[in-house]
Amino acid sequence: MREGLTGSGRPSSRIWAPAVAAAVLLAWAAAAHPSADPTILAPKETTLGSPFLVYISSAEPLEEVRLFWEGKEMALEMEAVGEGCEAMALLGTDVGGSKPGVKTLDIGYSRGGERASVSRQVRVADVEYPSEKLTLPETMITPPKELLERIGRERHESARALSTVTPARLWAIPMVRPVGGVITSPYGFRRILNGQPRAPHRGVDYRAAEGTPVKAAADGTVVLSADHYFAGRCVYLDHGGGVVSVYLHLSKRLVEEGDVVSAGDVIGLSGRSGRVTGPHLHFGLCLQGMMVNPEPLLGR
Ligand SMILES: [Zn+2]
Repeated sequence: MREGLTGSGRPSSRIWAPAVAAAVLLAWAAAAHPSADPTILAPKETTLGSPFLVYISSAEPLEEVRLFWEGKEMALEMEAVGEGCEAMALLGTDVGGSKPGVKTLDIGYSRGGERASVSRQVRVADVEYPSEKLTLPETMITPPKELLERIGRERHESARALSTVTPARLWAIPMVRPVGGVITSPYGFRRILNGQPRAPHRGVDYRAAEGTPVKAAADGTVVLSADHYFAGRCVYLDHGGGVVSVYLHLSKRLVEEGDVVSAGDVIGLSGRSGRVTGPHLHFGLCLQGMMVNPEPLLGR
C-alpha cells in the first residue's frame, strides 16, 4: 500500500496520494454512517385515546418527510441539527372513532433524491372509560329545529379549525395547564342520556369559577374565536404539526382569529356559555384530527 502510494516507478502516485486519502476518508465516513435509515422513536404500545410522541432523527438531511397514521397523512418539518436533522410529532387515537388493535405508523421520506419508507407497529390497547346514566328533560337534549342550520354551520366551522395543519412545530412538552381546577368530567367519559348512549367525552372538563383566566397550552395562532350554540364562547389554537387545542364555554374571549399567542398567555375567561349546566372549562386537544386525552401532556 505504502509502496503503491510512494511508488518509485509511478511519479504520479505522489500527486494522487491526497486524492486517495480523501477517497478513503469518504469511504470511512460512509461506513460510519452507511446511509443509515433514520432513527425512529415511537412507542410499541399505547392506549385508546392517549397521545404519544414520535421522534425522528437522521445523520443526513431528509426531504419530504411524511407521516401516515390512522388514514391521515402529514408533512413533517425537519429541523437541521449539525449535518443531519430531527423532528418530533404528536400522534394519538380518538375515543370517539378509533378502534383498538395493532396499527402501522408509516414514515416516508426522500434522501438525496431517493424515496424510502420505514414502518413501526403500535399496539393500541382498549380502555374501559367510566360511564354514567342521566335522565334530563328532552328539551335539554334535542335542540330546537330552527337552530339546526346554525348548529350545522358551527359544526363545520369547528371541524375546519380542528383540521388545521401548519408544518412548523410551535408546541412543546409539557404543555401549559389551561386552568388549575380539578377534573369534573374526564376524557372518555360516556353519558347515557334517557337510555341513549351519547358520544364519549372527547376533552376534559375542569372546575373553574366564572372569570377564571384560561391560558394557552402552547405557542400558537388563533384559528377560531366564536360564539357557538353548544360550545358557547370558544377559542381554537393551532400549534403547528397538526396540533390544535380547544377551549369551550368561556365567559369572555380575549383573542381573535389570526392573533399569535405564547404558551401561558390568557386567551379568555372561563364561564358557562353554550349548552352547559354549570361553569367549567372544557379543554380539548386534537392531533391530526384525533381528539386525544390532553392530561398526559400537561405540566403541573
Ligand atoms: Zn366537556
